[in-house]
Amino acid sequence: MASFKTLDDGDFAGKRVLVRVDLNVPMENGVVTDTTRIDRIVPTIRDLSDKGAKVILLAHFGRPKGERKAEDSLKPVVEPLARAIGRPVAFADDCIGPVAEAAVGVLANGEILLLENTRYHKGEEKNDPALVTALAKLGDTFVNDAFSAAHRAHASTEGLAHALPAYAGRTMEAELTALGKALGSPTRPVLAVVGGAKVSTKIDLLENLVSKVDILVIGGGMANTFLAAQGIDVGKSLCEHDLAETAKRILAKAKEVGCEIVLPVDGVVAREFKANAANETVPVSAIPADAMILDVGPQSIATVASRIDTAKTLLWNGPLGAFEIAPFDTATVAAAKHAAARTKAGALVSVAGGGDTVAALNHAGVADDFTYVSTAGGAFLEWLEGKELPGVKALSS
Ligand code: AMP
Repeated sequence: MASFKTLDDGDFAGKRVLVRVDLNVPMENGVVTDTTRIDRIVPTIRDLSDKGAKVILLAHFGRPKGERKAEDSLKPVVEPLARAIGRPVAFADDCIGPVAEAAVGVLANGEILLLENTRYHKGEEKNDPALVTALAKLGDTFVNDAFSAAHRAHASTEGLAHALPAYAGRTMEAELTALGKALGSPTRPVLAVVGGAKVSTKIDLLENLVSKVDILVIGGGMANTFLAAQGIDVGKSLCEHDLAETAKRILAKAKEVGCEIVLPVDGVVAREFKANAANETVPVSAIPADAMILDVGPQSIATVASRIDTAKTLLWNGPLGAFEIAPFDTATVAAAKHAAARTKAGALVSVAGGGDTVAALNHAGVADDFTYVSTAGGAFLEWLEGKELPGVKALSS
């Protein structure tokens, strides 16, 4: 990964600093229901405020597609944000133009201002140079702290980084450092655990991982496609039969480059997709025709645990089973706890990410015990696919 400047490298005192943050928080009826994303950006905001910067926050919310939709206003975020920072936060009704300029004009050093949703302007998602220029007028310096939005080349993520001197915020810095350690220059052996529903959403990811990691555990619904491609009858299990050739190609590539693929050898099967459905454990060679695999079985869990013991670095995306419904969360919880224990013992660097994965680790109660958990869904996956993220590339010095 190319190097980038951080908050330690600039002089921000008295400067107007435009800070791109992720405030796309869950909201119900105008009330923020989860402050995880808010909490993550606090260090950057406090740091800049302490350094005497005029902190001007830029963020998108929802998908208003260039229209001023009231339900996509960032206004309801002001109060929880101010509470999290422990300092007042001013708000301007627009992110460019006279309203924004006036609000920036009255800021004293160290004060914090949030500008309205960048996606109220069509130019945001188009990375329109006119919007970039209008935004750049408000600041002397740009700080990007929104890794989760870095896979998009938008005006406030990528465009601004070219228009003003650009720095990575603390959250971005932590994310890039953790991810760089896990896949850029990892301590080997490297183990990847990939689960989740479908192969179709993770083909690029599997192909990239096969060429980079030493061991790849495939679990969850997507393992069924690999089993079926090898002639195993998976009964009524979730399975993408049309991707049999893709699965075979990935297996062949793994063999060619010496990546060990670990597929389930047993499964917990049920006739209904619901909590506490009657279930039984069977070898994958004996899946009843009317049943579906909803979790990997105990023998498979033991194999995953042994590979976690072998590994020095772990990358994890996707649950091993239908973890939302007990008891089909068993394998995911067991593997997560095992990885957490190895991490705590100092034997493993563990990095996990992607929406459902964070939920699964929280469900297992071990998210805090992993080395790093990325909450950046799409950006994390694109990074795992080996793609260059435009918002990160633009920060490279
Ligand atoms: P993803 O978003 O691709 O990571 O997929 C996560 C979803 O995969 C979760 O909602 C799980 O319930 C689901 N899933 C995992 N294993 C299975 C399985 N064996 N059968 C059906 N769904 C599964």
